[in-house]
Amino acid sequence: MDFKNLTINKIKEIFQEVDLEDFYSEYFDFLKKGNQEIQAFLSFTENLAFASIKELKNKNKNLPLWGVPIAIKDNILVKDERCTAGSKILENYIAPYDATVIKKIKEAGAIIVGKTNMDEFAMGSSTENSAFFPTFNPFDKSRVPGGSSGGSAAVVGKGLVPIALGSDTGGSIRQPASFCGVYGLKPTYGVVSRYGLIAMASSLDQIGPLAKDLDDLILLFEIIRGKDELDSTSVEFPKEKIRKFEIKTVGLPKEFFEDLDSNIANLILSRLKETKVTLKEISLKYIRYGLHCYYLIMPAEVSANLARYDGIRYGQTVKGELWEIYKKARGEFLGKEVKRRIILGTFVLSHGYYEAYYLKAQKLRRAIFEDFQKAFKEVDLIISPTSPCLPFKLNEKIEDPLQMYLSDIYTIPVNLAGLPALNIPIGFINDLPVGMQIIGNLFDEYKIFEFAKMFE
Ligand code: GLN
Repeated sequence: MDFKNLTINKIKEIFQEVDLEDFYSEYFDFLKKGNQEIQAFLSFTENLAFASIKELKNKNKNLPLWGVPIAIKDNILVKDERCTAGSKILENYIAPYDATVIKKIKEAGAIIVGKTNMDEFAMGSSTENSAFFPTFNPFDKSRVPGGSSGGSAAVVGKGLVPIALGSDTGGSIRQPASFCGVYGLKPTYGVVSRYGLIAMASSLDQIGPLAKDLDDLILLFEIIRGKDELDSTSVEFPKEKIRKFEIKTVGLPKEFFEDLDSNIANLILSRLKETKVTLKEISLKYIRYGLHCYYLIMPAEVSANLARYDGIRYGQTVKGELWEIYKKARGEFLGKEVKRRIILGTFVLSHGYYEAYYLKAQKLRRAIFEDFQKAFKEVDLIISPTSPCLPFKLNEKIEDPLQMYLSDIYTIPVNLAGLPALNIPIGFINDLPVGMQIIGNLFDEYKIFEFAKMFE
């Protein structure tokens, strides 16, 4: 059987004739073999998969994801499976319950096939911060797949699974999607429940879908979204926003294109000109402070969220005096980047500095939101590159955190403003995939999808 580049529809066709169990006993071999080339999985969930298959046989075949394989980023809890968040501190942690998104995809009939590699606690842009091993770009093994959802993007990009889930705090779905040539959506903040997602920065984190096919991505988005009693920040997706839209004008922020690599800029512009949509230059005044603002707010929330990994609960346990336990657990089992952010976060929240840094960043965050709101009075959608650069070489940026942080200059403001944005693959430069980011106003996911369809 040819398992490569399957879409949900193709899989459904296969299951008209092929038995689920037969399919999966061969499919796991295919998956493991493909994975050897890119090292994208941290674990395979074969037992869970075959248990789900047994249950599925008694369920309605018309379930939207009946029998469809899906890969899950390893910071999303799947009951009774290991969940590491890419960290040594959670190396032995077994999830005691299902995240809400997992409950939903299981009910829809999906088969979870494995947990994917990621930067430790989702901090990074290349998956090199994984405490276990790096993942390779499916188009060039000497390059990174992006991050932090690099494992999920790589397995979809290589055509091993049709769909995957990732999480996005400052670009971690869209940037790896761009590097691996797939679609990746960061939904409007609150539209997808964060219950069961290992928190990085709670006011920015969102779970979202990755897929090779746009319709598959939309379907997965429709399955995972919705208000959840277990996440008080979650909201119902407004029904009136699920409809056809006419897209007349898209905005190109001049701040985003000023210093952009001319090859990437030209590719985006030439693809945009193929559509009949009017292009309009816009300005987002405060956008250039996005990165500064993010690297104050995000670490502040990180320092609070990661305080729970004390060496007593969750995964690694250490024996000794209390202070020794903290020192050993956090000193030994947390990586360099994670520690850097915890220290920065406790500093910006500390007495005497709070007003100067954290409070100021919050004000800036509001100003960035207002900037976007003003822009959406003039245009239907905003377009930007997803990443300022092509997939870079392994080890190229790992010793220079600032260079790494800069990979997300176009994606971070979107999280700060809580907006939805989609990466779509638009072509190749030097045989490496290039992505374009389509940004919408709050709850404008269907406007984004409609525009994305023009490029299929
Ligand atoms: N690369 C960004 C960071 O390192 C974004 C990470 C994310 O979205 N989880 O913080």
